[in-house]
Amino acid sequence: MRRRDFLKTSIGLAVSSTLISSENIKTNMNNSLILSTWDHGLPANEAGLKVLENGGNAMDAAEAGAKVPEADPTSTSVGFGGLPDEQGNVTLDACVMDSNGNAGSVAFLQNIKHPVSVARKVMEETKHVMLVGEGARQFAVSQGFEEMDLLTDESKKAWEEWKKKRREMTPHETHDTISVLVQDKNGDLAGACTTSGWAYKLHGRVGDSPIIGAGLFVDNEIGCAAATGLGEEVIKTTGSFLVVELMRQGYDPTAACEEALNRIIKAHNGNPDFQIAYIAIRKDGEIGSACIKGSFDYALARGEENKLHKIKGMI
Ligand code: ASP
Repeated sequence: MRRRDFLKTSIGLAVSSTLISSENIKTNMNNSLILSTWDHGLPANEAGLKVLENGGNAMDAAEAGAKVPEADPTSTSVGFGGLPDEQGNVTLDACVMDSNGNAGSVAFLQNIKHPVSVARKVMEETKHVMLVGEGARQFAVSQGFEEMDLLTDESKKAWEEWKKKRREMTPHETHDTISVLVQDKNGDLAGACTTSGWAYKLHGRVGDSPIIGAGLFVDNEIGCAAATGLGEEVIKTTGSFLVVELMRQGYDPTAACEEALNRIIKAHNGNPDFQIAYIAIRKDGEIGSACIKGSFDYALARGEENKLHKIKGMI
């Protein structure tokens, strides 16, 4: 055997012996759960639980959950009341992915309160995965979504304060994207992710949240994962896809989140000055999470309980 062929064969064997297939993971049935980012995950989970109780599936619950902070003007990192870009425009990013591997996404969407629902319409009503900007807005209107001004007085005031300081480059201060991961009673997985992105970003900036594989990824055989934090770094490492693939390789959900973050930490000489957190559900109902620094809260609803959990950063 030529050396190259030998290497190919041995690498193939090494990888295939550690890969996990659906047969190796017992599916968590009749024990639905919802895992969401940050404390706005608690009311999001509540809404998702109601949908599950009424017979909705994982996708229905993830969308319903994500819509709660989107509609909440006090949630300044999502939807209505989200902090604007440097020019004062609220521009929104969102995506959804279901248990059949279908995905929909909108980016740089303006004047529509529920980008997550528009993303779901893109998934269900079009042949596309992603619509952006004016095209996404026109599509939303054609689907019956109402237009409205999303900049609240409070967010406008915060933006005006920021302008006075005239900071050259905005530090990534807000990192409160809502990501909702759901496993329904049939064991099926789905997720939603929605954000107004980096506060005072350059006009036109799009983060990780609408990018399938970065802000969110669902593989119904293995698990699902979602991100919050500095989107640029999540995009460069295809973060959520990486977390799911690491679970496929045998990492438990927390170890998978940590390893995905390790790659970012390493790329920043062990000391990144920004936050990223991942959440993950494995098909057997195990959940995991990790964040780079400081702390991170996730909301977990399982059985009767819907609780906030705090984890510490890795560095
Ligand atoms: N990940 C989002 C973005 O970069 C925002 C965040 O969670 O901070 O747009």
